[in-house]
Amino acid sequence: MHNSLRARDMAYHFHSQTNPRRHEAEGPLLITAGEGCYVIDEMGNRYLEGMGGLWCASLGFSNERLADVAASQMRRLATYHTFNHRSNDPTVDVVEQIATLSPIPGSKVFLVNSGSEANDTMIKLAWYYNVARGKPGKRKIISRRGAFHGSTVMGAALGGLPHMHESFNMPGLNVIYTEKPHYYRNALPEESEEAYCARLIAALETLIEAEGPETIAAMIVEPIMGAGGVVTPPAGYFPALRQLLTKHDILLLADEVVSGFGRTGKWFGSEACSFVPDMMSVAKGLSSGYLPIAAAVIGDHIYQAIADEADRIGVFGHGFTYSGHPVTAAVAADVLRIYQEMDAPGRAAELGRRLFAALDARVAGHALVGEVRGTGFLAGIELVADKATRAPFDPALKVGALVEQRCRAHGVMIRNMGDVISICPPFVMTPEEVDQLVDGIVAALDDVAALLAV
Ligand code: PMP
Repeated sequence: MHNSLRARDMAYHFHSQTNPRRHEAEGPLLITAGEGCYVIDEMGNRYLEGMGGLWCASLGFSNERLADVAASQMRRLATYHTFNHRSNDPTVDVVEQIATLSPIPGSKVFLVNSGSEANDTMIKLAWYYNVARGKPGKRKIISRRGAFHGSTVMGAALGGLPHMHESFNMPGLNVIYTEKPHYYRNALPEESEEAYCARLIAALETLIEAEGPETIAAMIVEPIMGAGGVVTPPAGYFPALRQLLTKHDILLLADEVVSGFGRTGKWFGSEACSFVPDMMSVAKGLSSGYLPIAAAVIGDHIYQAIADEADRIGVFGHGFTYSGHPVTAAVAADVLRIYQEMDAPGRAAELGRRLFAALDARVAGHALVGEVRGTGFLAGIELVADKATRAPFDPALKVGALVEQRCRAHGVMIRNMGDVISICPPFVMTPEEVDQLVDGIVAALDDVAALLAV
């Protein structure tokens, strides 16, 4: 008999990103409640959530107003679809708000349920757009090594993380890869940021010319790379990239799944990185993670080209049962109103200043830390074996995972992606909680340094 929650989870639940045999031995961390910026496990232990779950919960874990919106919408219209010209009032509300906030001129919004679906949708739109323009040969997609764009087949193909390809024996799906703009890790000795940027853009142009621009539909980019190690690009990177892609008639697709809705101190990461994309995907912060909703946002130039040709090439045969679901849309619409009321970008920038002041003072100089980086209220801490040479730790030591475990022991949730620690806290944190988060990280780094006898 499996009578405890732990035993039932171990018996029946096949987990994401989890080693099954280790799970059988160790069991789950069961989170059973949320309160403000804390989550609480079944033993009553409280953890200050420095990652908003998975980069989502910008409004924390217990917003009553959103619970009421969901319940009242469910009583009024619990479910309906948006195929064949159908719509509903919360859907109209949320698409209008997204389009109004969007920096892409004349935005139209296609609703989906997850970041992966939003990215898949952008890719299919890029192909459809090229079919509509009579350029069906433009099919390849450029992505960047180290990128994360989701777990659907196309999302995983777009991603540049090796373990998401090799272990699934993934087909290539016409995705080609270029280097991510990781100055700390990949610049040559003595190379300036400007020279590094110029070198990356030149290498990309060589790749485009070798492949043939007439075979390339789009390039997908996270403005600030999240799961790839919170990589913040050098200042000139995106303006130069935008210019290069426009020159070769290649669409620029921004994956704003993490960087959207105030996280970077601007409404969207593309604004923080000084470029305007042709389309963008949004998710996570759109509902603060309260319900699954996401969107592909497309520029008017794309929309018009498609709309003009739909009679000839066939309607856009894409969409999901829950695209424009009234309950998820109602919650997201209210999340966006709350962001406006609280000035989410301003709040993220202010809390980010507090976070980076504490990280610079107390973490950057730590023996295990090579670099502290980030933008707005989004930070990464890269752990290194040697600060001077930037030499990484032997991956077998799993230093990042050790730091994550010790953070938890100190009541703080962060995430490690290899040896980079990521921080993406709720915007409803108090400044004191930001300091407390850093206290936990410093204590964890000290524990691990002692363990490694650094
Ligand atoms: N893009 C980025 C940048 C992400 O970080 C994620 C999720 N972590 C996704 C896409 C995929 O989103 P989802 O898990 O909602 O499909």
